[in-house]
Amino acid sequence: MLRCIACDREIPDGIRYTCDCGGLLEVRYDLAATGASKEAFASRPPGVWRYRELLPVAPDVTPVSLEEGNTGLHRCKRLASELGSGPLWMKNEGENPTGSFKDRGMTVGVTVARELGASFVGCASTGNTSASLSAYAARSGMRCLVILPVEKIAKGKLSQAIAHGAEIIGIEGGFDVAMRLIKEACDRYDIYLLNSLNPYRLEGQKTLGFEVVEALGWEVPDWIVLPVGNAGNISAIWKGLKELRELGIIDRLPRMAGVQAAGAAPIAAMVREGRDDFAPVLAPETLATAIRIGNPVNWPKAIRAIKESNGTALAVSDESILSAQRRLARQEGLFVEPASASPIAGLEALLEEGTIGADERVVCVTTGTGLKDPNIVIDRYPDPIVRIDADIEEIGKVIAHERS
Ligand SMILES: *Cc1c(COP(=O)(O)O)cnc(C)c1O
Ligand SMILES: [Zn+2]
Repeated sequence: MLRCIACDREIPDGIRYTCDCGGLLEVRYDLAATGASKEAFASRPPGVWRYRELLPVAPDVTPVSLEEGNTGLHRCKRLASELGSGPLWMKNEGENPTGSFKDRGMTVGVTVARELGASFVGCASTGNTSASLSAYAARSGMRCLVILPVEKIAKGKLSQAIAHGAEIIGIEGGFDVAMRLIKEACDRYDIYLLNSLNPYRLEGQKTLGFEVVEALGWEVPDWIVLPVGNAGNISAIWKGLKELRELGIIDRLPRMAGVQAAGAAPIAAMVREGRDDFAPVLAPETLATAIRIGNPVNWPKAIRAIKESNGTALAVSDESILSAQRRLARQEGLFVEPASASPIAGLEALLEEGTIGADERVVCVTTGTGLKDPNIVIDRYPDPIVRIDADIEEIGKVIAHERS
């Protein structure tokens, strides 16, 4: 069953992305009737489908899966002590099959698409959504259309969509234009939309939060800090944790902090200025291309998550994102893409302004791997390579720092 978050109307399951009133939809369950429990989860292997009582797919359906989820929750003591934070973990979503958390949504979204009889799926993407959807479409034998702001997409992500055989349309302009076009194309040409406007896809993404609390022994961190682009993930994680609390599986909820890049921060602006009206950013700009979004479709859900959780949102500079990326790679061995480093930049600012206390337990979501966007490192970091003749004496000088 779907329900409109604006007018509360209930809508039967089907191919539907918004309510007649224009409101966003979410999946509703009769939670007590689902049979969800810690024991039921523990009877299945780790991963997204471990939590299938709380997913919108009948028990006898074999999912379209690449064994997504079950990503590491890495305690980061060195980084925590440098930042002056309390206990700190990274939920490292780059460990998913196509390298980002999008796989959690796509395994569920593409499975539902198949159950609804779709044979052609589509999305607009800054990169990772197209990489993920094209893989799951390939896995299930569906056609896949992706619309991309082709000048601004990281090469690794584009190469994935090409390799998996997606039909690719490159447009000038940003993600927001691509999003408008794919919505229209899906309506007109009978394509099933798998952007995070799709309520079923978001159900898969909520398992990220389930894994965090399960890995902590069903304890809830004080804060979950994550990047916000189209604002689906923050909404999904919050919805899932509320469901666990309603079921009595956890006894409290975290506060949610959404981090945006300064050049693409409409939600942070709303929260920081205490406004209720949403104003899109017309020409979003940031090197963190995964969150280069000025008109996030899920902003009402994200604002709800932030308000209900007594959380916050904030904007961070591109420079602070790059420096966070470097720190995480050098102090903790985790190489993440720029968007995924933004929570660390955000955490630093939130500690400094006192919003997050120095004794609070914090989970940052590092949303995608750094490997897809190598040019950021090659072009933006100082070049460390020492070029010498192939000679052992020369190597000795380098090691002794006699030359550099
Ligand atoms: C998609 C994506 C985001 C943004 O997530 P939303 O759900 O759109 O807010 C952040 N980081 C990475 C790496 C992504 O791929
Ligand atoms: Zn409605």
